[in-house]
Amino acid sequence: MSSKVVKFGGSSLADAKQFEKVAAIIKSDPKRKYVVPSAPGKRFSDDIKVTDMLYKCCEKAGSGIDFSEDFQLIKNRYNDIISQLGIDMSLDDEFEKIISELKARPAKDYAASRGEYLNGKVLAKYLGFNFIDAAEVIIFDTKGSLLLDDTVKAIRARVKSLENAVIPGFYGRTTEGIVKTFSRGGSDVTGSIVANAVRADIYENWTDVSGFLVADPRIVQNPDVISVITYRELRELAYMGASVLHEDAIFPVRSAGIPINIRNTNRPEDDGTMIVSDDFDFSRESMKHTITGIAGRKGFSTINIEKAMMNSEKGFGMKVLKVLFDNGVSFEHMPSGIDTMSITVDSSEFEPVREKVIAGIRKEVSPDHIDVEDNIALLAVVGRRMKNTRGTVARIFASMAHARINVKMIDQGSSELNVIIGVSENDLPEAIRRIYDMFINSEK
Ligand code: ASP
Repeated sequence: MSSKVVKFGGSSLADAKQFEKVAAIIKSDPKRKYVVPSAPGKRFSDDIKVTDMLYKCCEKAGSGIDFSEDFQLIKNRYNDIISQLGIDMSLDDEFEKIISELKARPAKDYAASRGEYLNGKVLAKYLGFNFIDAAEVIIFDTKGSLLLDDTVKAIRARVKSLENAVIPGFYGRTTEGIVKTFSRGGSDVTGSIVANAVRADIYENWTDVSGFLVADPRIVQNPDVISVITYRELRELAYMGASVLHEDAIFPVRSAGIPINIRNTNRPEDDGTMIVSDDFDFSRESMKHTITGIAGRKGFSTINIEKAMMNSEKGFGMKVLKVLFDNGVSFEHMPSGIDTMSITVDSSEFEPVREKVIAGIRKEVSPDHIDVEDNIALLAVVGRRMKNTRGTVARIFASMAHARINVKMIDQGSSELNVIIGVSENDLPEAIRRIYDMFINSEK
């Protein structure tokens, strides 16, 4: 029978009320058979995630400081959930085991993993589902890289005879048996791997927003939700800082052709965002807007180089880039003219080696002029439909011109999937608002 893998983030499982919502969602669809929970997250904005509380206990344990008060707060979080839901279970033995393990061997990954482990136990009991310890099935090599094939095999073998399962997110174990976590937010990755292993129809990622938004809601008021986005579009927007999903959560489902549906636990009636493969058949999709999303990021610098007859000097670009390479700076964009070249770099990478890079370029290519402009923001206008629509770039520029925003750089990749423009950092919010108006509000 076909199945869905459902992953619930920390805010979806932060307290008993949230557990009730999660159970209702799972029970409303018999296909929702494989559940991947995070650790209890924040219940309110100043709250502390259980994962962070565990890191703190581990740090204290490592310095030989008493952490019993901190651990008591963790116990309270779980005990409140258990008692408020009226579940007949006690985690006391588990708590004791964790405390003594932390005292004996205060390992960060082990400590952090217990948040998901305990939450998985509680959720499995509450749902009446089987519990699978992620350490049995999510396998890393000794260096900490995921062994995807071994993991997929282990999951398949383990779930084969089971009707359903709760598999905690975020951790697994190395081939030597040591507990290992993904980076922060890594339950997304576990969900994606499980979806791949059970060949799920869909990977539902339940969180506290109704999907990806067309633009940052701190900049644009009440932006639209993106209903369908391709993996490639998502990557373009994520690069610019728009994030809902862990980066590593894409590959396992993308390679298996499984779509991801971002859903809101607090508004299950919303459809959320569907993330689909790049060759998805969009022919029947009604074309809502030309663009899919807009995202921007501050913190770039541009190195502008001028030299007469640059275009005929062989190896010019190579020599310049070699200087960057030798100084460990990667470049983001490099539009060039006949006698000019400008290279956009991440300021935090560039700053420590600024003088060395400039001196290196002077020495290697003897430019007529070189200067650096800081405080540049890059803005990406992303959309698969731009390729078949004329006038997109003209409209972007018109909206910038009306707002008297100076465009410092423009770069359209050959995929025609996105247009990147460079503006001064101060202009970024207004630039995003204007583009939103031009493409979303005016196309309504
Ligand atoms: N609990 C972990 C974290 O806070 C992993 C996750 O929630 O996905 O990063």
